[in-house]
Amino acid sequence: MKAADLAGRHRVVEGKGFRIGEVDADDTAGLDVEKDEAKDLIASNLERLGKLQERLYAEDERAVLIVLQAMDAGGKDSAIEHVMTGINPQGCDVKSFKQPGPIELKHDFLWRHVLALPQRGKIVIFNRSHYEEVLVVRVHPGILDGQGLPKELRDKDIWKRRFRSIRDFERHLVESGTAVLKFYLHISKDEQARRFLDRIDQPEKHWKFSFGDLEERKYWDAYMDAYEDMIRNTATEDAPWHVVPANNKWYARMVISSALAEALEALDPKFPKVDDDYRRRLAEARGALAAEAGKGRKG
Ligand code: ATP
Ligand code: MG
Repeated sequence: MKAADLAGRHRVVEGKGFRIGEVDADDTAGLDVEKDEAKDLIASNLERLGKLQERLYAEDERAVLIVLQAMDAGGKDSAIEHVMTGINPQGCDVKSFKQPGPIELKHDFLWRHVLALPQRGKIVIFNRSHYEEVLVVRVHPGILDGQGLPKELRDKDIWKRRFRSIRDFERHLVESGTAVLKFYLHISKDEQARRFLDRIDQPEKHWKFSFGDLEERKYWDAYMDAYEDMIRNTATEDAPWHVVPANNKWYARMVISSALAEALEALDPKFPKVDDDYRRRLAEARGALAAEAGKGRKG
């Protein structure tokens, strides 16, 4: 199995007709993390990522935005950790989005996300994102009360307009040189229960357990509906979603690193070109340094 095939297997570029009920959270494409094929793929992805990211940074033209969404305990943190091991931390930032604060609520819903976008040469990972505005806010529409929207803009078409805003926003980014890669880590409801149980049973994981997460779990079906509609309305050729089976963390990580490496390869960033004048100055610098180094050795 090649990395490109693996990423392609879970990519949704045309949202219409997408059904979340058809996604198998246990899928591993027949791979086994204990076997060489999977191990080699993971290692080669990380190696490719490191090299490609260096070129992206050196080229200083394009940027990459990675959007990560998941239900609680979906494995966002471990996915981030994994991707980061492959790349130079200088070229990559993680931005986590929680409940918006008072200043953020004074602005349109995309504002705080715009402020966090990657500059040229960089990769930014959104740990939760603008998509919360059509997920948690849709599941709990009471949140809209605190958003200060004009009354006439709080009608039944609000989600349709938000989807359009998001599509337009992402197309704008792509047309400005930022690749947009979106991942929804899909775990089953049973798997979430198992992971919550681990957090309760293992003292070193207590800090990860939140009673609020348990409350949110009651809305599982409403979240699945919201995720399905989100993907139907925002999976595009420009900014596709990857619906990643995530009951097996290693598999989710492998799909993400495969998709990222493939996207960077498609951008094909180049080291800046060196002209004749620059080469001449390099040769001069080299001559001067070599003379000094020679003196140093003698002295
Ligand atoms: P972890 O639990 O691993 O630290 P997390 O992403 O779940 O990561 P939390 O602080 O537990 O972080 O939760 C953040 C909360 O903020 C989530 O419940 C999410 O739904 C909520 N949130 C994010 N964006 C918005 C938004 N725009 N409006 C309202 N709530 C939001
Ligand atoms: Mg949480």
